[in-house]
Amino acid sequence: MNLLFVSSECAPFVKTGGLADVIGALPRALANCDVDVRILLPAYREFTELLKTGTQVLAIKKLFGGPASVVAVNADGLDLLLLHAAHLYDRDGGIYQDKDGQDWSDNHLRFGALSFVGAKLAAEGLIGWQPDVVNAHDWQAGLVPAYLSQIKKPVPACVFTIHNIAFQGRFDSRLRVDLGLDERLFTQEGIEYFGDISFLKTGIALSSKITTVSPTYANELLLPEFGMGLEGLMTYRQKDLIGILNGVDLEVWNPESDPLIDANYSVRSLAGKKVNRKEIENRFGLTPAKDAPIFCVVSRLTTQKGLDLLLESVDELVGLGARLALLGSGEKWLEDGFVEAARKYQGSVGVIIGYDEPLSHLMQAGCDAILIPSRFEPCGLTQLYGLRYGTLPVVARTGGLADTIIDANDAALAADCATGIQFYPVTRAALMRAISNACEFYKDKKLWRGMMRRAMRQPVSWDRSAGLYAKIYQQLSVKTKSKSLEK
Ligand code: ADP
Repeated sequence: MNLLFVSSECAPFVKTGGLADVIGALPRALANCDVDVRILLPAYREFTELLKTGTQVLAIKKLFGGPASVVAVNADGLDLLLLHAAHLYDRDGGIYQDKDGQDWSDNHLRFGALSFVGAKLAAEGLIGWQPDVVNAHDWQAGLVPAYLSQIKKPVPACVFTIHNIAFQGRFDSRLRVDLGLDERLFTQEGIEYFGDISFLKTGIALSSKITTVSPTYANELLLPEFGMGLEGLMTYRQKDLIGILNGVDLEVWNPESDPLIDANYSVRSLAGKKVNRKEIENRFGLTPAKDAPIFCVVSRLTTQKGLDLLLESVDELVGLGARLALLGSGEKWLEDGFVEAARKYQGSVGVIIGYDEPLSHLMQAGCDAILIPSRFEPCGLTQLYGLRYGTLPVVARTGGLADTIIDANDAALAADCATGIQFYPVTRAALMRAISNACEFYKDKKLWRGMMRRAMRQPVSWDRSAGLYAKIYQQLSVKTKSKSLEK
């Protein structure tokens, strides 16, 4: 069966977070379930060279103010459909924001265009390739089902995947005219959201099925605490909502063969981890200490990720003799706070502000534990990478963190099944207790190594989850086919 993904990110080409990792990895796993995925992506400036190597498969005279085309190209084993529209995507700066960190003022058009072309490709297909189902990801692709509903012929069903409900793509309702959205869609059941339009809400309201990235987050989305204003709609659509855990691309994240780390190692031979640890000490200016664990953070620096709680805990963490290596960027006050902490605790706290993919691999390989004190976490990927690299996750019990880590409580320790530490509620005190427990466990080398080995053996691949996605696509494709036969 054929599937069209519509997404604004895809690793390794353009990435700001977990969405990119999922879009880069899931199609490979779906191929094993006989699902042929093509990925529609905006041709940002990052794609300039790749565009030259592709084949134009669609031309659009005018798309929201300029000419556009779709260029098919196979890269890194993925079938990409690049939406080339220079007036929308070929610019200096980030993919969502300009150099000053301001959202691009025409983001509604940039991602409206992506959704419009997604719907067009889903409905019309390409020569020799007709999608059976379209899967739109996050708010940037949220208008796909709205545009599909405006096409007057049978169209494939749409699955909408929520990677993070906090980002909703909300715009002034007057912009619906520029987006070419039918007036009849401007209702509570359609694109309208508290007088505005919301791309994310549209995706949820108008798609046949909604998936999100962990079973616990699927439940949390029904609650005011996590639903971010959409809990009512999520509850209304509950029977079409399913939580499917993200997985790991085992080829990209493999300590046995990872070219981005100093020494490879495996569950049978952990010696290489020490070599990577030394390099982490060098890179982060940490004083070598065999018996003090190195905690790491690889994250966007935001309050969602609970890193304000960690910042408040640095004194105590250092007081326990532990060390911290942090790589991240985000809210300025958190960046400044951690830089200041590194100045204050030279040798115990090292901070690198920025985005550095190779360094993120080295950190997973060279640190002892990874801290993820998120207030909410739809799935989270860094804890899965932590498991795979034997860097024990210390996580808040929420969303996908709750679903993937087995807490080292007394029962789990007695049954030899713990893979990390969970804490709840998400407070400074609970985080500190978890850090202090980790330091205690670390002193017991046999216990720690046992947990590392167990963590590294956890099944974190995409295999099971890809099967669950494939089942949804199959069911929808059969339904759509029988509907169009009726017509
Ligand atoms: P989110 O998508 O909410 O940011 P996830 O845990 O799902 O969080 O995914 C984050 C992804 O981005 C992971 O692959 C992580 O390694 C990567 N990442 C986050 N911050 C950085 C950074 N500063 N440098 C390199 N990689 C980062």
